[in-house]
Amino acid sequence: MRIILMGPPGAGKGTQAELLIEHYKIPHISTGDMFREAIKQETPLGLKAKEYMDAGALVPDEVTIGIVADRLAQADCSKGFLLDGFPRTAAQADALAKILSDLNISLDGVINLEVAEKILLERLTGRRVCKQCAATFHTVFNPPKIQEVCDKCGGELFQRSDDTIETARNRLKVYNEQTEPLIAYYSKQGLLKSIQGDGEISQVFRNIVEVLE
Ligand SMILES: [Zn+2]
Repeated sequence: MRIILMGPPGAGKGTQAELLIEHYKIPHISTGDMFREAIKQETPLGLKAKEYMDAGALVPDEVTIGIVADRLAQADCSKGFLLDGFPRTAAQADALAKILSDLNISLDGVINLEVAEKILLERLTGRRVCKQCAATFHTVFNPPKIQEVCDKCGGELFQRSDDTIETARNRLKVYNEQTEPLIAYYSKQGLLKSIQGDGEISQVFRNIVEVLE
């Protein structure tokens, strides 16, 4: 099974990725892991990527695409893979299509997890941290026994500045702007499969498997 998994921050993409790679026995290929591995193994492209990263610059598309091509040609991808975080742009999607056609394979589907913005914002802004012992809670998923009070030490809970509603709204806006062209791209090719991502984890997973098979 050859899948791309997409979804906004807070949509539960990581959880579904884990379930899918377990179910299909395929490698989880995330951009971050791929870069770390290429750098660790000191491949020519890994070394090139490291130069840009060390300089605090964006790694250019041609390097990223080369690393993806190397990774997809490895033996463990022969039965499939789950791509996560790549492609990010329509140009990268075109490059991926070329890589796959060179390998004589094609995608089975592009899963797009959809969750209402209101729910995403609730998830993304729910984290609370204890001022005294740094324990973390979540207003929805892991609420403290007494509101705004730490279960462990009785300290006061606060919201970190990167968990505020403004930051969360901005993250979602950036994500939507970035993925809109990709969604159009895969929709046009008939590969896009939109899945309601705000149900129970196991139900969402069953729905994904159903549309893939
Ligand atoms: Zn505490």
